[in-house]
Amino acid sequence: MRTQVGIIGGGPSGLLLSQLLHVRGIDNVVLEKHSREHVLGRIRAGVLERGFARLMREAQVGDRMDREGQVHEGFQIACNGTLDRIDLKGLTRGDTVLVYGQTELTRDLYEGRDALGGTVIHRAEEVEPRDIETQAPYITFRRGCEAIRLDCDYIVGCDGFHGVSRQTLPKHRVREFERVYSFGWLGVLTQTPPVSSELIYARHERGFALCSLRSAALSRYYIQVPLTDSVDDWTDERFFEELRRRLPDQVSATMVTGPSIEKSVAPLRSYVVEPMRHGRLFLAGDAAHIVPPTGAKGLNTAASDVHYLHEALVHHYIHGDDGCLDHYSERALARVWKAQRFSWWMTALLHRFPERGDYDQRLQETELSYLRSSDVARASLAENYVGLPF
Ligand SMILES: Cc1cc2nc3c(=O)[nH]c(=O)nc-3n(C[C@H](O)[C@H](O)[C@H](O)COP(=O)(O)OP(=O)(O)OC[C@H]3O[C@@H](n4cnc5c(N)ncnc54)[C@H](O)[C@@H]3O)c2cc1C
Repeated sequence: MRTQVGIIGGGPSGLLLSQLLHVRGIDNVVLEKHSREHVLGRIRAGVLERGFARLMREAQVGDRMDREGQVHEGFQIACNGTLDRIDLKGLTRGDTVLVYGQTELTRDLYEGRDALGGTVIHRAEEVEPRDIETQAPYITFRRGCEAIRLDCDYIVGCDGFHGVSRQTLPKHRVREFERVYSFGWLGVLTQTPPVSSELIYARHERGFALCSLRSAALSRYYIQVPLTDSVDDWTDERFFEELRRRLPDQVSATMVTGPSIEKSVAPLRSYVVEPMRHGRLFLAGDAAHIVPPTGAKGLNTAASDVHYLHEALVHHYIHGDDGCLDHYSERALARVWKAQRFSWWMTALLHRFPERGDYDQRLQETELSYLRSSDVARASLAENYVGLPF
């Protein structure tokens, strides 16, 4: 088999890149380890920056998102029993975010790929990028009993944090930056009306909590838990009892609960690998970096990588100019680190760090009080939350 761009991973990064390249006439093939149903079964992000939404439209898959996505003009921070609203629209001169589940946008991307006749090969096993330092890289993989070779001009690793692409980079040519947190988020999805039409981020002495949503009838709630906890430790009753304790009374009193339709623990980690290119292998999305979900930057940072990379490949194939490809890693990383900074800051602001002492606790309280009192601090939070330009 031969194509221009071989993409490893059929999550949001891989599918969006594939669709954008196809629209510009650049041939590509996506290799995905799992079935489509498996990929669509993963409940993850839900808050899209305007830049992501723009890319979905450019990829000709934005119609349902524009119809069904909810525009959010602000969110709430709960602390010491009170709610403080961050007016995103007012603080950013009109910018907002869109609440639309990752599952839904992945479904739209798959449908877009089908509609254009794109090639997505599912259940591709033992995928390996090869000869990435040469002018003729290729990918080998197995499908059932058949061993297949895919020749291409470039390979893009969009295969997430646990994928194979990053492992292919020679250890002595890369630098890794990492922070692992001692807690995770226990998330529950329920078919109930959300307790609030806007997201509520809660800081509480028992730990962080988040009231999020996917639609008017689908709620997503999270609480901070120790990494040692598993889903089996948390019945639905125990989860909602703990969530209510961490929220102001006026919120918990109106919460409608129901049986969980999904429950999972996500560990929190910050990670970046540099550079995001070696030879003819490029990395995009979670394959190159991850953030704690506070601040909703994971999926949105994946989208900015896809923007820079698709633009660079268009320059290469359509204008014969390799300048953007040569600077891809630098451009992408500049924005990646700003998202890392913001995610770390918001995590530090709102979580309980059991290993830290009274001094850090006071600093955290002071940071929150400064945020409440300063329009400049609120504007900075809002600017980062809606997403820096790319
Ligand atoms: C539990 C959880 C909750 C999250 N919640 C949020 C949130 O609330 N807000 C937010 O912004 N972000 C959140 N994120 C992060 C967000 O989901 C990711 O940033 C986003 O999925 C990145 O997309 P991606 O396509 O780069 O990687 P992925 O979504 O991980 O997709 C990678 C794809 O590659 C495939 N793959 C892996 N290995 C191989 C291989 N060897 N060969 C072929 N294919 C392979 C995988 O099956 C997968 O389909 C969450 C992540 C997790 C894990």
